[in-house]
Amino acid sequence: MRVFRSVAELQFDAPKVGFVPTMGALHEGHVSLMRRAKLECGFCVASIFVNPTQFGPNEDFNKYPRDEARDFELAKSAGVDAVFCPSVESVYNGSTTTVRVGGVTDLWEGPLRPGHFEGVATVVHKLFGMVRPTIAYFGLKDFQQCCVIAKMVSDLYLPIELVFCETVREPDGLAMSSRNRYLSQEERALAPRIYAVLNQVSGSTSGLSEALLEGRTALQNIGFRVEYLAAVNTVMQPIETREPNSRLIVAAWLGTTRLIDNIALTKS
Ligand code: AMP
Repeated sequence: MRVFRSVAELQFDAPKVGFVPTMGALHEGHVSLMRRAKLECGFCVASIFVNPTQFGPNEDFNKYPRDEARDFELAKSAGVDAVFCPSVESVYNGSTTTVRVGGVTDLWEGPLRPGHFEGVATVVHKLFGMVRPTIAYFGLKDFQQCCVIAKMVSDLYLPIELVFCETVREPDGLAMSSRNRYLSQEERALAPRIYAVLNQVSGSTSGLSEALLEGRTALQNIGFRVEYLAAVNTVMQPIETREPNSRLIVAAWLGTTRLIDNIALTKS
């Protein structure tokens, strides 16, 4: 596995390049994307870059977990051919251009994390320009992020195919996340309930708004501070009746840790 630390060094000779952008602190969720990229493209590039512009001033940029040696081992075992770990300076030095995706960012994570999606879209566009992948792989764990990237690629006619991959979960249902390590033992025991409640709402025979209200109450009773629990369509607008391809999305705090998750909304 080759390691590139600057844009100038980046060079590979592969007819088809699968690309997995990450912020490191790798887990099985990331590994599943890397394996798929390798399988489908024959050549997999993963980036490890903790992107400062997508963190708010009160967020965890400085304490975001970083463990390069372990990440390299995991990436290698997933079949990654090249890791790209640029410095913040090399990505942003002198840069005055940003990418702001409208519409799909208006609700949910958008207003709750001002600047977040602009940081994400900008860095992903930069990484696409640097790596020039054939196919880029993202996790549905960050569902709204998938919608933002899809809209950016479509609006800007970027010549890149996107693949969105299912969320990898712990055996108890908790969606894998680099931030799960912030949970205390007690919080970790409660955290899988978020997935259980999503399934409960999705499978409910009540009307959608009633089921959402019941779900919110259930989460609050467990001890979550719910920011949103909603049913959305493919452009991230709230829906009142179940539609094809709609999704249930949730963001909730457990102590000082913010968890997000989502599942497909089944028709009942
Ligand atoms: P991150 O390092 O958190 O920015 O994530 C890098 C990529 O991995 C993003 O496309 C995420 O959506 C994806 N990802 C994170 N967690 C999971 C998971 N549990 N299952 C599948 N993909 C994931």
